[in-house]
Amino acid sequence: MEKNNYKLKDLDKLVSLAKRRGIIFPSSEIYGGLASVWDYGPVGVEIKRNVKNLWWKSFVTERDDIFGLDASILMHPNVWKASGHLDSFSDPLVECSETGKRYREDHIFILEVQTKKENKIISIEASDEDEAKNKVKDKILSIIPLNESKSSNNPSPDGGTLSEPRNFNLMFKTFIGPVEDSSATVYLRPETAQAMFVNFLNVLNSSRKKIPFGIAQQGKSFRNEITPGNFTFRTREFEQMEMEFFCSPEEDESWHDYWINFSLDWFKKYGLRDENLMIRKHDKNELPHYSKASSDIEYLFPWSWGELETISNRTDYDLKAHSELSGKDLSYFDQENNNRYTPFVIEPAMGADRSVLAFLCDAYCEEETEKETRTLLKLHPDIAPIKIAVLPLSRNEKLTEYSRNIFDKINSIYETQYDDTQSIGRRYRRQDEIGTPLCVTVDFESVEEDNSVTIRHRDTMKQIRVNSDNLIEAIHDQLKSFS
Ligand code: ATP
Repeated sequence: MEKNNYKLKDLDKLVSLAKRRGIIFPSSEIYGGLASVWDYGPVGVEIKRNVKNLWWKSFVTERDDIFGLDASILMHPNVWKASGHLDSFSDPLVECSETGKRYREDHIFILEVQTKKENKIISIEASDEDEAKNKVKDKILSIIPLNESKSSNNPSPDGGTLSEPRNFNLMFKTFIGPVEDSSATVYLRPETAQAMFVNFLNVLNSSRKKIPFGIAQQGKSFRNEITPGNFTFRTREFEQMEMEFFCSPEEDESWHDYWINFSLDWFKKYGLRDENLMIRKHDKNELPHYSKASSDIEYLFPWSWGELETISNRTDYDLKAHSELSGKDLSYFDQENNNRYTPFVIEPAMGADRSVLAFLCDAYCEEETEKETRTLLKLHPDIAPIKIAVLPLSRNEKLTEYSRNIFDKINSIYETQYDDTQSIGRRYRRQDEIGTPLCVTVDFESVEEDNSVTIRHRDTMKQIRVNSDNLIEAIHDQLKSFS
């Protein structure tokens, strides 16, 4: 596929295109919208569905070592106790005004330090005072925990200032049954992963598969984020595509590398440019409690680099925690080696909405033509919502009949749209803006003279004339030129 040379710098351009062309709308817009909640329109729903299907194909159906799962959003509250979400999601948190990064209040220390030039106030994130002191090279004049600071203008380790602390549990709470009573409290899942752990035995026993194998699912997750934003990048309701790969404790590191590379290749295969992708290995101090090692796949969004996916080595943490709390043995017996162990887990956790956003940002392109600025989405054809548009030159009866036949023929094979409204130029523009790879134009010559139609290529705008009897083969060849 010809690479896009344009780099989107202004996210608002994409937001307005998305609204105009039915890709993504603000939620409940007639009531003024709901902050950071978005709806996929008729075009967007197809793009997102394609991304999810391609993920499912690569991570599940094309392999024989991964099983699918579709678990409920509501789960037993003990799931979140064992996973740590009930405890670790409810600390008093402070937030950096610049980056939105949140810190546990009790992990921030305020120091006055003497540098060569001046005395200044800084903050350090550390689990105790000694660790905070060890992190500072300058002379320390004073050190206090954040909760003892009298100032309302404390610096953040990230460069901004820190908000007031707030007790914050990221999980959305609701109640099962008619009475709002705490015994019936349940949570909307904040990740899809836990369903794979609590179903580990069910899948193992029903599939009779040996380790290593994986369980994958796609679905909605909910987090009451303090600072959502950047369009669909960070929202409170979002969709995840996660896979838990169960392996022996001896093979965790090689499988971790394998899934990092597999995921990166997946993004590249469907069109994200190399220069906009990077792998970022987490420092030891950013690792969550369950992880031995994690790497993010990041994309260069219009505002900065941002995470698309984290591939974590979750060790045996989750299975052991669920084993302990449920009292069910979740270990595995390796018959070949006569050895019992709790499997280690490698988790590629990808966001569906963030991936869609990255594909849209990467595909967005503006080109100067003689007459105008042409806006187009250079989407990979497998992601494009419509593959072919059939465009009769006018609404003449003969043209319509001929074009309808052409449409029926193509639509049985490729997602096709029929459009006979407005001028042909406007229709091309509309198809360019939703990323349709090919337009098939039917004119009077088609009907009256040569039984041929014109195929127009989205990226090059080149047109070729093909006999309608050979149209499907010609479309097939043309589509190949994109991938
Ligand atoms: P972040 O650091 O951006 O908050 P995270 O590290 O908490 O994300 P994970 O728990 O690793 O995210 O979730 C896996 C993936 O789910 C992320 O890489 C991202 O693509 C997606 N995701 C997580 N939170 C959100 C959100 N609030 N909105 C949209 N997608 C999200």
